[in-house]
Amino acid sequence: MNQLGHIYKWNSHSRHFVFPALFPTGFRNVVWTAAALRETSRDIISIAARGIVLYLLLACVFTGMLFGQEGDLLRQPWPELPNMVMLGPVSCRADFPLVEIEEVQQDIARLQTDLIRYLGIPEPQEGIILCLFNTQQAYCDFVKRKYPMAPLDRPALYIKAGGPGVLLIQRDKDMLLNIRHEMTHAYLNAALRNIPIWLDEGLAKYFETPQGQRGFDNPFLQSVQKSASRLFGRAPSLERLEKLQMIHQMGEREYRESWAWVHFLIHESPLSQKLLAFYLRSLTPEKQYGISMEQSFINQKKTPLTKLLEEFLPDYRKDFVEHFKNWKP
Ligand SMILES: [Zn+2]
Repeated sequence: MNQLGHIYKWNSHSRHFVFPALFPTGFRNVVWTAAALRETSRDIISIAARGIVLYLLLACVFTGMLFGQEGDLLRQPWPELPNMVMLGPVSCRADFPLVEIEEVQQDIARLQTDLIRYLGIPEPQEGIILCLFNTQQAYCDFVKRKYPMAPLDRPALYIKAGGPGVLLIQRDKDMLLNIRHEMTHAYLNAALRNIPIWLDEGLAKYFETPQGQRGFDNPFLQSVQKSASRLFGRAPSLERLEKLQMIHQMGEREYRESWAWVHFLIHESPLSQKLLAFYLRSLTPEKQYGISMEQSFINQKKTPLTKLLEEFLPDYRKDFVEHFKNWKP
């Protein structure tokens, strides 16, 4: 238990516990390189994998110079998106006046704070570029021109191509939800390495709901509660989710089950939330420094979250069922 022995403060109002301090930041060059190396074949589209090895070599030798370049890239105006504001590590650009969507700025700041406070996700170690388009036409034209390999049938895209992650989002009724979902991916992938797909998506589904409504307002909640409350209700298999590797393996059922496990881990108890945070911490680049991506995947298979749960929360499957049976506002 010692390795989990930090002191955490349980917030009974929000039913989260809060980290007392941020994780130290360091290994900036390693983080940057690791992010470039990350397998990004999910709804994250990797379109410059060929440049990755080169980035690795350059980052080792010319780290300072590259950070300078990244800074330039983040601040460089793009003619298609003339309105621009820096929100911490996020360079937000739009083809319409940003004053029209001030709530986006608050949402982005809140999301990052929540990821740090509730799960101990380190602050992003690299920039993120968020691009907002007033119309579907403008969005499609931009995607076709800049990222011809990317699909056009989605309202939002996250593109990780060696440099800063780029989010492309249309302005429609779901814009804020899409921003929160994709920004969660962007923050996680700017700070961690090789996140299992179920967890990446489960966290994005959880955090896409506005702050203050996340525990109760997700459309998955009702069906998860219904199946947990059935006679002989059982928890969905977390081992099965842990085996998933590609986005096409994630259907509605997988999204629902991933969201449900994240909900359980965050809200069940201080210990369950601590275990999730502890697991996420094992995915920070400094914990994986010096090991290859292949080795990192092997390690993940050897020490999945289920192993941690079996050790510290042996009745977690039963607890999951009870959690959803009894979950009330
Ligand atoms: Zn997603």
